[in-house]
Parts: sequence; C-alpha cells; structure tokens
Amino acid sequence: MRIRSVRAYFVDATDTLVKGFVFCRLEADDGTVGWGEAYGIPRRERGIAEFVKGLGGMLTALDDASPQRFRDKVTNWYDEGHLSIDLSSAVSAIEVALWDICGKQAGKPVCELLGDVLTRSVRLYANMDPLNETQSIDRLAERCVAAKERGFDALKIYPMEYAPLAEATACVRRVREAIGPETDLLLDAWALDDAQFAIEAGQAFTPYKPFWFEEPVAGERLDEMADVRRHVDLPIVTGERQIGLHHFRQVLEKQAADILNPDIVGAGGILEMIEIAQLAQSYGMRVSPHCWNSTLVAVAAMAHTFAVVPNAVIGEYFADFEPFFSRFGTLDHSLSGGRLTIGGTPGLGVNMHEDALAAYEV
Ligand SMILES: [Mg+2]
Repeated sequence: MRIRSVRAYFVDATDTLVKGFVFCRLEADDGTVGWGEAYGIPRRERGIAEFVKGLGGMLTALDDASPQRFRDKVTNWYDEGHLSIDLSSAVSAIEVALWDICGKQAGKPVCELLGDVLTRSVRLYANMDPLNETQSIDRLAERCVAAKERGFDALKIYPMEYAPLAEATACVRRVREAIGPETDLLLDAWALDDAQFAIEAGQAFTPYKPFWFEEPVAGERLDEMADVRRHVDLPIVTGERQIGLHHFRQVLEKQAADILNPDIVGAGGILEMIEIAQLAQSYGMRVSPHCWNSTLVAVAAMAHTFAVVPNAVIGEYFADFEPFFSRFGTLDHSLSGGRLTIGGTPGLGVNMHEDALAAYEV
C-alpha cells in the first residue's frame, strides 16, 4: 500500500472546550481514506498539525506504508532520537489513520487485525472537567448525578480545584454522597508540587473509597510517586504526559504506580499502546488509556485497542464534548450504560464529515 495524500486539520475549540483538536486524513493509492487524530496539547495544536504534514511528506515516499513500516522508517527518521510528546502525538495520528485504511482494505474492524479480540464492549469513565465553568461543589455534584443518570458508572473529578485540603475533601465527600456507593469515583490530583501534601490528600480521600488516585505528583518524579504509593492505600495512576517504553519501564521497576494511562493518541498510536500494555502486564500492572481528545477518532482508536488488551481497566471519555463533535462526524459504535460497543464496520468505524472539516485544514 502507498499513501498518496496526507491532510492535517486544526479545530480550535479553546473558547468552549479549553483546547483544540488535530485530525488527519490519509488517502491510499486505491482511494481508501483513513482518519487519525493527534493529542491536541493546548497551545501546541498548530505545531502538532505541522508535524503531521512533515511526517506525511516522508510517508508518501514509502512503497509499503503499513503501520509497522511507518514506525520503523518514518518515525525514526523524523525524530532522530529526540523524544517529544508533540511529535509523538502527530505520529499517533498517522499511525491510527493507517490502521483505519488497513481495516477498510481488509474488510474488517481494526481490532480484528490487532490480535485476539477479548471484548467488543469497552468500559468508559466520564471526565467531569468543568471546562470553562467555575463551578461550586454542589454544581459538580449535580453534574455527576446527571452523568450517572445517563448511564456512566464511573466518574472522574478534580478535587484539588477546591482548596484548602479540607475543602477538597469536602468535595470528594459531597460527590460520593450524591452518586452513592455503587458508582466508581476517580480522583485526579493533576500533578501536585509537594509529595507530602499529595500523601496527606490521598489519605484524606481514602475513606470515600475512590477507584483511583491519578497523578499525585508530576509523572517524571518517580521516586516521589513511589513514596506516595507506599503511603496511600489507593491505586496510583500516571502516564498521560509521558511517552516511551523506557519511561514506563522505569515507572514499573520503581513500583511507582498501579495503572499506566498514556494518551491513546499521544503516546505513539495503537501499536505503542499495546506494547506499553504488554510491558505493564509483565509487571502485573494495568493500563487505562487517557483520552483528552474528541469523541470521534481517538475514542474509536481507544476502543479497538482496548478490545485486544487483557489488562485494560477503563477508558476516558468527555461526554460534554459530544455536541461539539456531532457536526464533524459519527461513530459506528453504540454507547450505553457507560460501555462503548464496537460495531462491525471495517476500519475504525468513524464517519467523518469532510465538508465540515474542510475549513480547518492546515
Ligand atoms: Mg489526568
């Protein structure tokens, strides 16, 4: 297979969703179109879109543009050994789009090309980020109840938005009371500066039975992360800002976390996520794809990957993004009861509205 064209799109939603989104469209020499998405890191989306175009220029020169060849040839040529999550995000977009093409050409859903399909139903948690809204704890609790009523049985909140620690703890208690004991409550500390404070916070939240405690300190501070893990009796999650198997191996060797959550379209793509998951499994640990991305391509990529990863726990989903993205495409997957079930369409199962995207081409 050869790729004859690569297009990149930057959809700026800073005003409403606090960030922008980067998509790519590949066209194979037989006319098959594949869609990808990059992790749109705020304020860097346009640069990531330029990386997509730069990588695309090298991709179109390959005689065999399989996802594996793309990783072996283009990625390694292009980065020259300089790791960067921005570049890794762009790589992810193209790799995911190549899988979409492979699936369409084979007439199979992508998951069936990746290995033994263990599940077609992926458990998701709803991220309750208030976006641009400054919200009271009561308002957050109301939104959590609404998400639960929509069917989500796992919700993620950011209690450290409320200071001091007594207020953050009151937030966790209020939300737990509102959603009841059966719904899983995920806490994201979003990288605290002080590991001792992170320990105190984790211990204060523990009585409310959180499902996990995410990024208590920044992901590269592994000794401190391990210290938090030793003192807090909650599963520790890290990885959304990191890339590379070498990093994740260190997390595991230092016993710094229980669950790795690299971004599904930031860490390098579908194959990279599977390799990280296999590495985690060899240490008896689990993965949970981070997905601060659209509700379209990235979510589809996450679902297909999840289908073949035995130690995947739960995936991230921004239900509040759905209205915005409904004009850019649809998914051939059903979302019900907090589970995304993969449809039978060949490829990723995303139907992008090219007319709506055209104005955003970079
Ligand atoms: Mg996080």
